[in-house]
Amino acid sequence: MKPRKVPLRKCVACQEMMPKKALIRVVRTPDDGVLIDLTGKKAGRGAYLCGKIGCFKLAKKSKAFDRALKLTVDPVIYDQLEQDFIAVEDEFNAAKERDDDDDES
Ligand SMILES: [Zn+2]
Repeated sequence: MKPRKVPLRKCVACQEMMPKKALIRVVRTPDDGVLIDLTGKKAGRGAYLCGKIGCFKLAKKSKAFDRALKLTVDPVIYDQLEQDFIAVEDEFNAAKERDDDDDES
């Protein structure tokens, strides 16, 4: 494989630097909503999270999105995001596996 310059982003939960495509983007919309943005193209301030529910739970516990998005995120929103996160996790990981050969599970 040819080394390519990959933009790195930091997971707001575990602080690990990862290629953008290995992270799930969470975006603060202009009307102060918080959404998971699988396309990575929605307008607004973004925060990144590894595609792992463990990291989501950590972010929820530490209110990492509040800091990353400069917004007080309601616990209800965190719960909603958690549901969405679980829903997209499989899809996200499947897409990632098609994309690169990572033999770490
Ligand atoms: Zn992480």
